Amino acid sequence: MWRYREWLPLEDDEQAVSLGEGGTPLLDASRLAASEGFGRLLVKDESVNPTGSFKARGLAAAVTRAKAGGATRFVVPTAGNAGIALSAYAARAGLPARVFAPRSTPATILAQIRCYGADLELIDGHIGDCGKAARAWATETGALDVSTLREPYRIEGKKTLGLELAEQLSWTLPDAIVYPTGGGTGLIGMWKTFNEMRDGGWIDGPLPRMYAVQSTGCAPVVEAFDQRAERCTAWPDPVTVAAGLRVPGPLGDRLILSALRESGGGAVSVTDAALTDGATQLMRVEGIDAAPEGGATLAGARELLRRGAIQPQDSVVLFNTGAGWLYRG
Ligand SMILES: *Cc1c(COP(=O)(O)O)cnc(C)c1O
Repeated sequence: MWRYREWLPLEDDEQAVSLGEGGTPLLDASRLAASEGFGRLLVKDESVNPTGSFKARGLAAAVTRAKAGGATRFVVPTAGNAGIALSAYAARAGLPARVFAPRSTPATILAQIRCYGADLELIDGHIGDCGKAARAWATETGALDVSTLREPYRIEGKKTLGLELAEQLSWTLPDAIVYPTGGGTGLIGMWKTFNEMRDGGWIDGPLPRMYAVQSTGCAPVVEAFDQRAERCTAWPDPVTVAAGLRVPGPLGDRLILSALRESGGGAVSVTDAALTDGATQLMRVEGIDAAPEGGATLAGARELLRRGAIQPQDSVVLFNTGAGWLYRG
């Protein structure tokens, strides 16, 4: 992703803390498009990133800047994949990391965090509870807290999702983007970069409509969008197999909601059964190892097509944000 270094917070002579993140394929899902009634359906497959998810982009940027700024240790609360990514990038930087994760996190994800050498602490609760523990640990030890939007650079790394998409589509953008939304970094980062690209004259024409997909078991953004609220109300009892979507109170709620509204998009929730089926279809019909969150984008796009928010002639990009194998076992 550092080929876009002019758009990123990196000095000219500075070397990034990198594992080769980004540069992921944009796959034409033409068989699914035909069977489901989409004009054009593309999948940005983030499962092939180092550490198995798009979290690699944000944490590569955050660890790079933090190391340059003198950080000596890191901490992160996670629903899973951010913990793997921090563990790997901290190792790459030669610095220690502490990860707070819910006890209910899939076992393979927890194993990956441990294998990269992070100090893993399990919490009875959700990512919000892990966040409290992480902030207390940061205060106590001086570790840098790299939680979503509590430092400025993860979102800069996520901008490269939008830059790559534009380049892969020859500097045009699709009609609609369907994004599985937890903390919202990817959505906010893409919206930031689309506006930067337009202001810089790199693209013209309308920007894509941005759609957030959540699970019906944890849908604070969908609820706030439907109620025309500016902020989310914390979801009381978040339950979903899509661990990355189990974020009951996203810190960046205002930014998420304004991106959805400014873009003319929206928000939709799908059941865990529907998102699991979406992942199965992406695997069986297109050979893409979809995480449950990636499956949610197909399920969400189906619902948006049914409602008429997505039209049959639209070009639609789904984000498969992570690898499905991490959730098995
Ligand atoms: C973190 C995560 C999400 C949610 O991403 P945000 O940008 O924080 O909304 C979605 N899918 C997967 C696989 C994740 O790891």
